[in-house]
Amino acid sequence: MLACGVCRTDLHVVDGELPSPKSPIIPGHEIVGRIDAIGAGVEGLSLGDRVGIPWLGHTCGVCSFCRLQRENLCDDPLFTGYTRDGGFATAAIADARFAFPLGETGSDVSLAPLLCAGLIGWRSLVIAGDGKKVGLYGFGAAAHIIAQVAKWQGRSVYGFTRPGDLATQAFARSLGAKWAGGSDEMPPEPLDAAIIFATVGDLVPLALKAVRKGGRVVCAGIHMSEIPSFPYELLWEERQLVSVANLTRKDGIDFLRQLPEMGIVTSTTSYPLEQVNEALADLRAGRFEGAAVLIP
Ligand SMILES: [Zn+2]
Ligand SMILES: [Zn+2]
Repeated sequence: MLACGVCRTDLHVVDGELPSPKSPIIPGHEIVGRIDAIGAGVEGLSLGDRVGIPWLGHTCGVCSFCRLQRENLCDDPLFTGYTRDGGFATAAIADARFAFPLGETGSDVSLAPLLCAGLIGWRSLVIAGDGKKVGLYGFGAAAHIIAQVAKWQGRSVYGFTRPGDLATQAFARSLGAKWAGGSDEMPPEPLDAAIIFATVGDLVPLALKAVRKGGRVVCAGIHMSEIPSFPYELLWEERQLVSVANLTRKDGIDFLRQLPEMGIVTSTTSYPLEQVNEALADLRAGRFEGAAVLIP
């Protein structure tokens, strides 16, 4: 293990908010490591290679979802750091077919947050469609990466933070957001799409209100507080409300292939592995911008 990012999903696992975790479980699914042992017959990877281990740890390969290229929805999957042991550790075991070769460009710490915040953020952005005006609700690890990707694609980014969180709004602008404000504010113009990274169900009606006719709201988190009821007119006019679950290996390959051109700069706060509980507490309290990364 070289580095492991800390994701909000790790908090959900630790807090017992996700059903049927492996127990006891080693959390962590943004793993950057080097192969120091390898099974017979593994193709395309060698001892010493630097690889990334993401959330999707294993799929069955035979269910209807796997066969229709929707392995993110596999009926019998394993998820790293949730239903199989993950990366808050000095070593981890992974299914080689679900490891991404990372090459030698970029530091271990800077790459770690890309393995979930980047990859699931990427899937969310693809599912948001190719509209030019994209709102990002919850400006943490995922949004700080996806803002840069969207800007690289020539889109305008609108960043939404907790009301009054001027520091994070300034952070969003520093990453190229055209506008940043509180989640209770309306953007200066209607959005083509919005992605909700925060785990707050109250944001759903607000985001629907912020998108234009035919616009799409994507819920990117694995867990969300209850969504309040809202008037049908917020959904009417063919607005769409969808969720994103997990990732496929193709998402990872597509994203990592374009990484050299995207020029993403991740903002990270490093903690030694022994301080994992401090890292989780700081994430919970929103005490840093960007992403926390553990170093064993
Ligand atoms: Zn399957
Ligand atoms: Zn994650």
